[in-house]
Amino acid sequence: MIAESGRLLLVEDDLALGKMVDDFLTGHGFRVRWESNGLRALGLIDSENFDVLILDIGLPGMDGIQICRTVRDSFSGPIIMLTARGDEIDEVVCLEVGADDYIAKPVRPRALLARLKVHLRRGGVEVAPAESSRLEIDGLMIDPNSRTVRQRADSGVEKILNVTTAEFDLLMFLMQRAGEVVGRNEIYEHIQGIAYDGIDRSIDLRVSRLRKKLGDDPNNPKCIKSVRGVGYIFAVEL
Ligand code: CA
Repeated sequence: MIAESGRLLLVEDDLALGKMVDDFLTGHGFRVRWESNGLRALGLIDSENFDVLILDIGLPGMDGIQICRTVRDSFSGPIIMLTARGDEIDEVVCLEVGADDYIAKPVRPRALLARLKVHLRRGGVEVAPAESSRLEIDGLMIDPNSRTVRQRADSGVEKILNVTTAEFDLLMFLMQRAGEVVGRNEIYEHIQGIAYDGIDRSIDLRVSRLRKKLGDDPNNPKCIKSVRGVGYIFAVEL
């Protein structure tokens, strides 16, 4: 049976990691349910239909190994365990209790996504792409299907802006949240797929380049404004 999208249960008690993986996979078309307690997770697995389980090992309530052992006979989808780095014993145990795969922490979301897709495809589950529709804000048009950015001048003349893949993703993310301050860490996680280290300036550099391409004044930007110490906002009025 082909599901409409990947219904995924993420069981992780590390709040920062859980949120990051939840946001990342949701942004890639999964319907994510995130639970931090092992016992509650077991209840969810019994009562709801998931296509895939991602289980941390050390959890309050019931650990991931026990959950896997308990549900393995009744849950037919892939089970992926998150293991502490270099913990070979855990990795062997994961496979012994019937897990399909394990990912060592620190979790790299893009690697996790790639493995998830492989396992789900094997089970006939297609992951629907994240909802994407064309946006137009104050004469700036962005189309995720053709991945083009067009700008309409006051004269009505439209021109296509030449942006890189990373610049496109950044602009799309900001335009989807227009009028809202988006944190630098959130942008970084979305674009790079890894947690922000607080140092990397690649997002700021991309914003500078985008401003130039949009014809936005770097000293007094009207389109992508900086919010000091926080991040950026795509201003609604140009
Ligand atoms: Ca844990």
